[in-house]
Amino acid sequence: MIFKDRSSLIRLSQGHLNLIATCPPRFQQIYLEQLHSPLNPEQQEKQTWGTRFHLLMQQRELGLPLESLLIEEPELHHSLAALIKAAPEILLPARDIRAAEHSRTLSFNNYLLTVIYDLLIVNKEAAKILDWKTYLKPPNKKKLANNWQTRLYMYVLAETSDYLPEQISFTYWFVKLPHQPQSLTFTYNSQQHQQNKQDLAELLNQLDRWLDDYQNKEIPFPHRVNCETNCPYHQFFLSSEESKNQSETSNLITEIEEIPI
Ligand code: SF4
Repeated sequence: MIFKDRSSLIRLSQGHLNLIATCPPRFQQIYLEQLHSPLNPEQQEKQTWGTRFHLLMQQRELGLPLESLLIEEPELHHSLAALIKAAPEILLPARDIRAAEHSRTLSFNNYLLTVIYDLLIVNKEAAKILDWKTYLKPPNKKKLANNWQTRLYMYVLAETSDYLPEQISFTYWFVKLPHQPQSLTFTYNSQQHQQNKQDLAELLNQLDRWLDDYQNKEIPFPHRVNCETNCPYHQFFLSSEESKNQSETSNLITEIEEIPI
């Protein structure tokens, strides 16, 4: 259980926040009870490809040789070439300061909020966060705007730098072939920043209460309202909470896919 010791600050990423916001029972299972589902071969392959693409982009930023990666996986080469063609301005050397896999941490109440920017490009006027997405289909823009990756990444940068919210933007690049690379860009402002602060405080207050209930009173994390009708495993979680049937839980979890952003 990663949260057993409450005497130290708890580290949370955007993935944790998304799960707390959408499905507290799954957060409990995955992060408190360590009930991870094994990836199927297709998921494993996608994850490996995504990891290699991120490594390629990081090595490129650091000026390290890329040949071995590109020779091993021609598809990486094609995706990189397509991205350079679609967005030469972000990939060509410039006067801006650039940092790949740049990590920042912000203390917020009892938590440490952690972000890792695939690429951060800054100059005197602006700070641009870029993120490589290696699955095929971009989600709709409204859904992505509400995702905690978008919100947290800009929030943490505004809180940990001298940039005003209005100087910060966040662009997702969807880079997996056969589609041409597509991007979605979000701008930021002071009003959104205040809203994010308020929503973060509310979400983490809920987490405080649920952790306390779970650890001290053995009360499971609650379901969200208004998602039961679209939830294939709501009934399962309810009966599982009653029966505590471990083997059924394992079987179900293998069928639950990660919620993509
Ligand atoms: S109804 Fe389903 S999606 Fe909603 S909180 Fe419960 S298990 Fe999660």
